[in-house]
Amino acid sequence: MKTAAETAWPIALADLEIWERSFKWVVRRCPLCSKKRHVHGGGLVGEDPRRMLGHRAGHCDHADNRGYILVDADSAATESILRRFGPNVSGGSGALAEKYR
Ligand SMILES: [Zn+2]
Repeated sequence: MKTAAETAWPIALADLEIWERSFKWVVRRCPLCSKKRHVHGGGLVGEDPRRMLGHRAGHCDHADNRGYILVDADSAATESILRRFGPNVSGGSGALAEKYR
């Protein structure tokens, strides 16, 4: 019989970054394999990357593939990014598309 600790999904704190025209959630330190900087997609710039949080399959090399709960590590930083690049930025998406064209 497995303990709760073995069956529960661990928490993976991740920071929001922008790569090219996409949001990425970058795991600070993987709770499963301790390898740094697993990168998960967060959708396109102009969308809400927070909808991609929650349970995600682990990007680990080893066999423990139960995944983890992706959690925004710094919601203040995320809010700051989304004020400029997130959904519903008035007049922002056009300028942004120009920037990344
Ligand atoms: Zn890992």
